[in-house]
Amino acid sequence: MSAPSLDAPDAGLDDEQRAAVTAARGPVCVLAGAGTGKTRTITRRIAHLVRTGHVAPGQVLAVTFTARAAGEMRTRLRTLGVAGVQARTFHAAALRQLRYFWPRVVGGDQWPLLEGKLRFVGQAAARVKAGTDAASLRDLAGEIEWAKAGLVTADGYPAAVARLRRDTPGPAEQVAAVYAGYEALKNQARMLDFDDLLLHTAAALEEHGDVAGEFQDRYRCFVVDEYQDVTALQQRVLDAWLGDRDDLTVVGDANQTIYTFAGATPRYLLDFPRRFPEAVVVRLQRDYRSTPQVVAAANTLIGAARGRVAGTRLRLIGQLPPGPEPDYTEHEDEPAEAAAVATKIKRFVADGVPASEIAVLFRINAQSEAYEQALADVGVPYQVRGGERFFSRPEVRRAMTVLRTSAAGVEGAPLVDAVRVVLAPVGLTPDPPGGAAQRAQWESLLALVELAEELVAVEPGADLRRFNAELDVRADAAHPPTVQGVTLASLHAAKGLEWDAVFLVGLADGTLPIQHADGDEDAIEEERRLLYVGLTRARRRVMLSWALSRQPGGARRRRRSRFLHGLIPDQHPSSRVAEVDIRGGARGGTKPRCRICGSPLLGADAMKLRRCGDCPSDVDVELLDRLKVWRSVEAKEQQVPAYVVFTDSTLAAIAEYRPADNASLVGIPGIGARKLERYGPAVLALVTDGDG
Ligand code: ATP
Ligand code: MG
Repeated sequence: MSAPSLDAPDAGLDDEQRAAVTAARGPVCVLAGAGTGKTRTITRRIAHLVRTGHVAPGQVLAVTFTARAAGEMRTRLRTLGVAGVQARTFHAAALRQLRYFWPRVVGGDQWPLLEGKLRFVGQAAARVKAGTDAASLRDLAGEIEWAKAGLVTADGYPAAVARLRRDTPGPAEQVAAVYAGYEALKNQARMLDFDDLLLHTAAALEEHGDVAGEFQDRYRCFVVDEYQDVTALQQRVLDAWLGDRDDLTVVGDANQTIYTFAGATPRYLLDFPRRFPEAVVVRLQRDYRSTPQVVAAANTLIGAARGRVAGTRLRLIGQLPPGPEPDYTEHEDEPAEAAAVATKIKRFVADGVPASEIAVLFRINAQSEAYEQALADVGVPYQVRGGERFFSRPEVRRAMTVLRTSAAGVEGAPLVDAVRVVLAPVGLTPDPPGGAAQRAQWESLLALVELAEELVAVEPGADLRRFNAELDVRADAAHPPTVQGVTLASLHAAKGLEWDAVFLVGLADGTLPIQHADGDEDAIEEERRLLYVGLTRARRRVMLSWALSRQPGGARRRRRSRFLHGLIPDQHPSSRVAEVDIRGGARGGTKPRCRICGSPLLGADAMKLRRCGDCPSDVDVELLDRLKVWRSVEAKEQQVPAYVVFTDSTLAAIAEYRPADNASLVGIPGIGARKLERYGPAVLALVTDGDG
């Protein structure tokens, strides 16, 4: 990010951005798409309010979604000449406040934080004879988190899930019992979980007038980034912070809502103008981050979204000069995909793209390992998950110790030189060492030197003591310096960030959208938004790839993500039916339409497949074979013709959809309740047989 002039917080803004930045105190809402400058706008707005004397820096509380984003906001503010603004995550802010108010609202020792829920959930589950295997406990813990995020109590849980028709990880009464048991065990142990931090903070402000008074005196102005992913619980905290005031700026993009699985909802963002009718509402459409090619792909992807969130559709208009088209590549297997990506990255780096300007983004963290390995194999440095764990790396902890204890001999030296001298004995050689692991450690040390350079740029007089203090603050806030390495991150962790080149990997159905989203349209749409978040991280180049099998030599059972339909060019080798006009046919009306091209469906077979006979098919051929064998055995046993069991087109539809559960199975025309009861288990077993 280029440093704006210190004396003009509103320089480098377009008219709409400037309207939001310079709006008078009071409610402001920026509803806008990816890369349109929302984060830039709120940072500048804070600087503007401080500069014009509307508020003191210490009276501003800015909330963002990750510790990294909070750190970045503090850095941006410092560059704008504003220091002392509190920029934190909801949890970090609540933790500080609760610790401060604890003696008054609770008294006695502070209850320690419970790091994970599994132990108490396990005990509670055992008591009510619920499943206690690792996966069940994780699901139960996730469900309790979802409930707490939505302000749903254990008592209220069964009614709430019935109302929402939510799939629960067990009978609702039983989940409620585990939830209640978990709360009791945790409270007996006098511990707080992460959700409690927010609950207790809100309660302290709601119930203690003196606490609320002191707080409201201290903080006068609130700013929330990524507001589309706020939970009811976080909103309650925000409301408690505000009291009856309205000095609140929120920015968000409903199309980037990716945490509804954890209880977040874009409702508060979309309803903001109704809640505050006097709010200044700004919509931004100009995308300053990405080339028109990347923007076009993003528009196409999100343009196909269905459901409520899509109602806020905004079309982005690319502002940058043109760049390369998105690149789509199919691979035989996952290791081959990772190796090819690593090779391409190495070439980019050789061509002068800094490694820190490249990211590999995936759906689940477990995918990271293959890419760590592949990058190590080609000798390209990387950091996992945006480097959140930078300050817990052993070499960084060691370096911080020596920086604190080995100042002798470097007094008076310029800070950056002093840091280099002190770090030399722990591995900061002038040139990078060979070997991937050593290289990674060396990059960490170098990152500390760069941090010193950054500090000196802002505070020319900074010395080693000041530097150590800065490191402590950053380690506290888990805000790592940028390591000169490729970022490996999950799509969730990539929110709000940007890179020159982005690799979106593992784009196979079953991974993105993830298998367990199948049959649930809302969950599928959230998966689509995840890909949208991923695509819109790229400034110039975006590479999308997938693999047909997991292991080398494995059966080629996987197929590219359904979200790539409409994005990937027809003439692409992986578009098996190239000559089909996938854009033909008008949309709208109530007649069933092809899910690929949108034309009205003609004929029973097309209805079953929910696509035209000649639109690209993704039938899993091996699954189809298995289904046919099973059908002939079944037909023989019953002494009926095969089509009485299932017709060919129903089998083809099963082989194409790969339904994961009863709900998606009955979604296939030709499978009614009777057939579901009779054949459902066998069919689902055949579908999952081929997985893994
Ligand atoms: P996201 O939805 O992904 O969080 P965002 O709306 O917060 O995106 P920013 O990160 O603030 O967008 O900005 C995207 C990029 O565009 C940044 O590199 C930013 O510096 C740049 N940018 C924003 N506004 C302008 C502008 N008016 N002129 C030039 N560049 C801009
Ligand atoms: Mg942003």
